[in-house]
Amino acid sequence: MAKIFCVANQKGGVGKTTTTVNLAAGLAKVGQRVLMVDLDPQGNATMGSGVDKRQMALSIYDVLLESASVAEAAVFSDKCGYHVLGANRELAGAEVELVEVERREKRLKTALAEVADDYDFVLIDCPPSLSMLTLNGLCAAHGVIVPMQCEYFALEGLTDLVNTIKQVHANLNPDLAIIGLLRVMFDPRITLQQQVSDQLKAHFADKVFDTVIPRNVRLAEAPSYGLPGVVFDPAARGSQAFVAFAQEMVERIHKL
Ligand code: ADP
Ligand code: MG
Repeated sequence: MAKIFCVANQKGGVGKTTTTVNLAAGLAKVGQRVLMVDLDPQGNATMGSGVDKRQMALSIYDVLLESASVAEAAVFSDKCGYHVLGANRELAGAEVELVEVERREKRLKTALAEVADDYDFVLIDCPPSLSMLTLNGLCAAHGVIVPMQCEYFALEGLTDLVNTIKQVHANLNPDLAIIGLLRVMFDPRITLQQQVSDQLKAHFADKVFDTVIPRNVRLAEAPSYGLPGVVFDPAARGSQAFVAFAQEMVERIHKL
C-alpha cells in the first residue's frame, strides 16, 4: 500500500517543489516506486521532473474533475525514474469548478485509492496557499512534510499550517499527521539559522527530520534543465542530502 505524503507550507519560495522532486528522485534511486503529484497550477514540479506542462494530454485537472483516472493521466519520467501526475494553468480553474461538486475535498483521495498498490510512495507538491487544492492533498495524505527555512519568522509561519492540519485531522482525515519538519536551504555559518534550528528541535523534538538540506546552487540550477538536482548532479552536496533524506523517510515509514 502506497504511503501518501503532502509537501506543504503556505509560504511561497520555501522549497516545497525542490523537496518534492528531489525526494521523489531520491526514493526512486533507493528502489522505491514513486508517483509525484503536482497540485500547483504553476506546474514547476512537473517541468522539474522532465515533463512539459504545455504538452500534456491529461493532467491532475482531469483527475480532480473525474474525467480521467490517475493511471491514465500519469506519465513515467525516464530520466527521473518516477511517475508524474502533472499540472498546468488549467488547474487554477479547478478551484472554482470544484466548489459546486460533491465530495469536493476528497477527489484526490478517491482517485489515488485506485493506484495504492502500484506505488510505495505518493508525494504531493502543494501550492503556497490553504486552498481547495491543498485541502484535497491533505485529505488524501497519511502525513505532511513541511520544508522550512530557519529564519526569524519560521515558527510563527507554522501556526496557520499546524491549525489547518489539526482541523483536517479532526473533520476530514483522521489519518493525517505531521511527519516532520525538514530544514532546507540551511547555512550553518549563519548564527541565526543555527539558533532557529535549535529552537525547532526544542519545540518539535523528533518531528524534526535528522537530515538537513544545505543551501546548494546545483539544486537551484537543476530546474532549468528540467531535472531534480539528484538526477542533474548526483555528486552535489544538496543532492546527497536529498538521497539521505529519502533513506530517512524509508526508515520512518517502517515505524509509522
Ligand atoms: P516553493 O515550491 O516552496 O515555492 P521552490 O522549491 O520553488 O519553493 O524553491 C524556491 C527557490 O529556491 C527556487 O529558485 C529553488 O531553486 C531555490 N532552492 C530551493 N531549495 C534550495 C537549496 N537547498 N539550495 C539553493 N536553492 C534552493
Ligand atoms: Mg512550488
